[in-house]
Amino acid sequence: MSEKKINLKGKTLKELEEFFESINESKYRAAQVFQWLYQKRIDSFDEMSNLSKALRNNLNKIASIESLELIEVQISQKTDTRKFVFKCEDGSLIESVLIPDQDRLTLCISTQVGCPLDCKFCATGQMGYKRNLSVFEIIDQFIQTSKHSNRLITNIVYMGMGEPFLNYENTLKSLSIFSSDLAFDISAKKITVSTAGIPDKIIDFANQPFKGKLAFSLHSTDEEIRSLIMPINKKYSLKENIEALEYFYKQTRRRITFEYILLKGINDSDKDIQGLVKLSKRIPSKINIIPFNSIAHTNPLGIAAELKPTSREEFDAFVEKLRKNNLTVFVRNTKGSDIAGACGQLATKILRRKSSIKV
Ligand code: SAH
Repeated sequence: MSEKKINLKGKTLKELEEFFESINESKYRAAQVFQWLYQKRIDSFDEMSNLSKALRNNLNKIASIESLELIEVQISQKTDTRKFVFKCEDGSLIESVLIPDQDRLTLCISTQVGCPLDCKFCATGQMGYKRNLSVFEIIDQFIQTSKHSNRLITNIVYMGMGEPFLNYENTLKSLSIFSSDLAFDISAKKITVSTAGIPDKIIDFANQPFKGKLAFSLHSTDEEIRSLIMPINKKYSLKENIEALEYFYKQTRRRITFEYILLKGINDSDKDIQGLVKLSKRIPSKINIIPFNSIAHTNPLGIAAELKPTSREEFDAFVEKLRKNNLTVFVRNTKGSDIAGACGQLATKILRRKSSIKV
């Protein structure tokens, strides 16, 4: 009976070294295959021309280079934002989004199938949680989406489906592969990991050699309100998270990005401005104010069904007041909202739209 082949895509350099040692090959083969997999993105051992014929034959027998199956691409007519739906080997669907901007092309990737956090404003939260993604499934989102773009991907944000810090080991491994100069060579400065707040992981992340950015999904500076819209806050309070973020800054000197969706009547009052001003004095940071994208297509229940965006005028006034208080504020536009593909609001309900392309 033939055993299942080992998929080498998704392996870190260290894991490839262990693999080649285990089959009595020299360690330096690892760096060669690492480059073929992630720099040249070759998916056949036969094309790895600096490996001996015998080794290539052996790899064909015992190893494989898998790919996610792309089942749909939706393209926003307005902004050329592209949403990709992939099918995993177990049938799970995951999504990635490519978001173009003048000087950058950002890939938003998923780290879990669904998400256990159940944030009330988030489409992914409404679909429940299935499992963590493997490193291969995280990395291959980059490889497959880049085949469907005529521009190079310059930035990566971990803001798709799932909570990266609940899939921590695989997230760290994927970061080491994305940022390695033998692999994707994306500068760590251009990679942002976004978390809803797992304090011990924020602290561990601060101590990692990886020099990437950290975004924190804040959405309210009030413990009670935050718990209402983000149930994870009952387990890991804002207080604990803020202490962890202070530690992150102390260790890394990297400013935190706070994400803040403006929700009508929930987190858009003058008191909320005061909360943000106070927080920004404590933690060197910038804040992304985000218009709420409707999640009506997920048929939300309870409070999730009640959420509404702050009106345009009040939104602008809120941003203005923050700026008057000397906060660094960015307004995130809602690219891809017409394909339900804005970051962090992915759901695997495949919308049959005119703009969809079947592949
Ligand atoms: N679990 C991680 C990664 C998911 S990204 C985290 O919570 O940070 C989460 C981000 O997606 C939010 O901070 C917000 O920026 C965005 N997001 C989620 N739902 C949204 C919605 N309905 N409208 C606009 N942005 C949304």
